[in-house]
Amino acid sequence: MAKIFCVANQKGGVGKTTTAVNLAAGLAQLDQRVLLVDLDPQGNATMGAGINKAELESSVYQVLLGMADIPAARKRSESGRFDVVPANRELAGAEVEMVELENREKRLKDAIDAVAGDYDFVLIDCPPALSMLTLNGLCAAHGVIIPMQCEYYALEGLSDLVNTIKKVHAKLNPELKIIGLLRVMFDPRMTLSQQVSAQLEQHFGDKVFKTIIPRNVRLAEAPSYGMPGVSFDPASKGAQAYIAFGAEMVQRIKSM
Ligand code: ATP
Ligand code: MG
Repeated sequence: MAKIFCVANQKGGVGKTTTAVNLAAGLAQLDQRVLLVDLDPQGNATMGAGINKAELESSVYQVLLGMADIPAARKRSESGRFDVVPANRELAGAEVEMVELENREKRLKDAIDAVAGDYDFVLIDCPPALSMLTLNGLCAAHGVIIPMQCEYYALEGLSDLVNTIKKVHAKLNPELKIIGLLRVMFDPRMTLSQQVSAQLEQHFGDKVFKTIIPRNVRLAEAPSYGMPGVSFDPASKGAQAYIAFGAEMVQRIKSM
C-alpha cells in the first residue's frame, strides 16, 4: 500500500512543486511506483511532468467533484516515469463547488485510497494557501513534507502551518504527521543560510531532513522542457540532491 505525502507550505514560491516533481522522478529512478497529484490550479507540477494542462479531458477537478476516478484522470509522465493526476485553472472553481458536497474534506482521500495498491508513494503538490484544496491534501496523507528556504523570514508562517496540521490531526486525520522540513534553494556561500539552517536543526532536530537541496539553475530550467530536473540533467547537483532525498524517503518509510 502506498505511503501518501503532501508537499505543503502556504508561502508561495518556496520550492513545493520543484520538490514534488523531482522527488517523484527520484523515487521512480529507485524503482518505486509513484503517483503525483497536482492539487494546484496553477498546474505547475502537471507542466513540469511534461503534461499539457491545456489538453486535459479530466483532471483532479473531476476527481474531487466525483465526475471521474483516478484511473480515468491519470496520465503518464514519460520523462519522469511516474503517473500524474493533472490540474489546470478549472480546479480554482472546485473550492466553491465543493462547499455543498458531503464529506468535502475527504474527497481526495477516498479517490486516492481506491488506487493506493497501485503505488509505493503518492505525492500531493499543494497550492500556496491553507485552503479547502490543501485541507483535502492533508486529510489524504500520512505525512507532510515542508520545503523551506533558509532565509530570514523562513520561520514566519511556519507556526500557522504547524497549527493547521495539528488541527487536522486532532479532528480529521489521526494518521497525519510532519515527516520533515526540507532545506531547499540552499546557498552555502551565504552566512545567513548557514545560520538559519543551524537554527532549524536546533529547533526541529531529526524533523529536519539530512538531505539539503542546493540552488541549482538546472532545476529551474527543466520545467520549460517539460521534464523533471532529475531526468533533464541527472548529473547536476540539484538532480543528485533530489535522488539522495528519494533514498532518504525510502529509508524513512521503513520506520513508519
Ligand atoms: P507556488 O507557491 O507558486 O506553488 P512553489 O512553492 O511550488 O511555488 P516552485 O514553483 O517549486 O515553488 O519554485 C519557485 C521558483 O524557484 C521556480 O521558478 C523554480 O524553478 C525555482 N526553484 C525551485 N527550487 C530551486 C532550486 N533548488 N534551485 C533553483 N531554482 C529553484
Ligand atoms: Mg507550486
